[in-house]
Amino acid sequence: DDASQPLRVFFFPLMSPGHMIPMIDIAKLFARHGAAVTVVTTPGNEPLVRPAIDRRHDGTPVVDLLLLPFPDSVAHLVPSTGEHLGAITTAEHADFMNAVFALAGPLDDLLRQHRPDCLVSDAMFPWTSATAAQLGIPRLVFYGPGAFLLCVHRSIEFRGHHAAVSSRSERFAIEGLPHRIHLEPSEISPIFKFTEMVLQQRKAEESSFGVLVNSFYELEPDYADLFRKEPVTKAYYVGPVALCDQEKEAQRGSRSSPHLGRWLSWLDSKPAGAVVYVCFGSLCELSNDQFKDLALGLEASGHLFLWVVREGAGCPPAWLPDGYERRVEGRGLVIRGWAPQVALLGHPAVGGFVTHCGWNSTLEGLTAGKPMAAWPLNYDQFVNEKLLTEVAGVGVRVRRSEAVGAARVRAEEVTAAVRELMGGGEAAAERRRRAREYAAMAKAAMKEGGSSYQDMTCLMEELMACRERKPGGAL
Ligand code: UDP
Repeated sequence: DDASQPLRVFFFPLMSPGHMIPMIDIAKLFARHGAAVTVVTTPGNEPLVRPAIDRRHDGTPVVDLLLLPFPDSVAHLVPSTGEHLGAITTAEHADFMNAVFALAGPLDDLLRQHRPDCLVSDAMFPWTSATAAQLGIPRLVFYGPGAFLLCVHRSIEFRGHHAAVSSRSERFAIEGLPHRIHLEPSEISPIFKFTEMVLQQRKAEESSFGVLVNSFYELEPDYADLFRKEPVTKAYYVGPVALCDQEKEAQRGSRSSPHLGRWLSWLDSKPAGAVVYVCFGSLCELSNDQFKDLALGLEASGHLFLWVVREGAGCPPAWLPDGYERRVEGRGLVIRGWAPQVALLGHPAVGGFVTHCGWNSTLEGLTAGKPMAAWPLNYDQFVNEKLLTEVAGVGVRVRRSEAVGAARVRAEEVTAAVRELMGGGEAAAERRRRAREYAAMAKAAMKEGGSSYQDMTCLMEELMACRERKPGGAL
């Protein structure tokens, strides 16, 4: 009897950590809601995916993993573990697109063989809508960011701003949004350079079952509603998906870093809310000069700080002023390499977060209930910054005395931002209060009966109904 069988859902994430990790969390959410879940990836990405997949106590994985064979001729074009799609050039993007299109045949074969009830795939794989349609199964689209960013992008696209982006030289208003949001031309995501890709994504979305968003309704209700008003878009707000497994980060932290205990004891020795946590995500984009200004600015702020300095494959060694770490000893802790961010951010001694506003960091800061100093560097980060500072009211913007883009942030601007963030004024207290509120809302959204939980429940019911309607079962 088909109806009593669990829904069989296949996930096909983009091979990039910022997309893959939240999508695996969504896969786990589906598993928690009773689905039989399989993640499909390429052999080169298996090392990233496998550790992220939990095992039950009896050793069987909650989520299955299937490897997709694909032609060797394109293997080198597919970014592997640790690389980030956003960092590639237009020419590399074309190569990448050829490579991902070369996955269409093997994925189609695999789906025909396994006959799932539903396919969830990254927005960067628009052709999977056609694949799913041919097999008569629904496809759900996963975009990395939240509803606010999706609405901003839609407004830019629909109003033709993107055509003018390169020729614009002045700040302009994004039209049709509940808040009056302005952007500089340099703050528009480079994704709009890939016009053909954007068009394909929209077409694919129109023929899809709906869109999965890693956000929660209460964070951006106006935008969540607005995005749902799109004529063809059914959206499900199912996040923050990192909360699908609250012990995960602690485990991941202790596995990935033997020093976590030492860092946590350092935090234990500090007063509540006194430490500013500084981290710029999984990419390194700061120049040596910028590192120096950041270092000096943090030192001059007089606040306690925990600063994660990206090091390792592909990153130049960070340049800190001579004797810096000795000078700040006791007041400032510099972590080199990868830090278990969620575990550290959640510590009560952390009172603020200096962030580059990547969407995952943005959500993690909100979920931890910390006000943020927003220092966007690239991609969608400028838009996320607006959400933090102008919509949610939990962020201060790190100011720059020079034009956005090329200019670096001077030490005194770093100091000013940290003091504003960590200060005792009324505005700072209000940001703290709001951040705590968002944290409570994020957790409530994911609990049984919460908004994200309900969206997941509805989605599961709709997918079950869809399967039942289909003549002749799965395929
Ligand atoms: N992250 C971490 N430790 C680090 C650096 C990053 O755990 O030292 C995690 C962070 O918690 C977040 C992700 O890596 O989940 C970064 O994603 P985000 O969207 O914030 O930025 P991106 O790296 O894509 O620019």
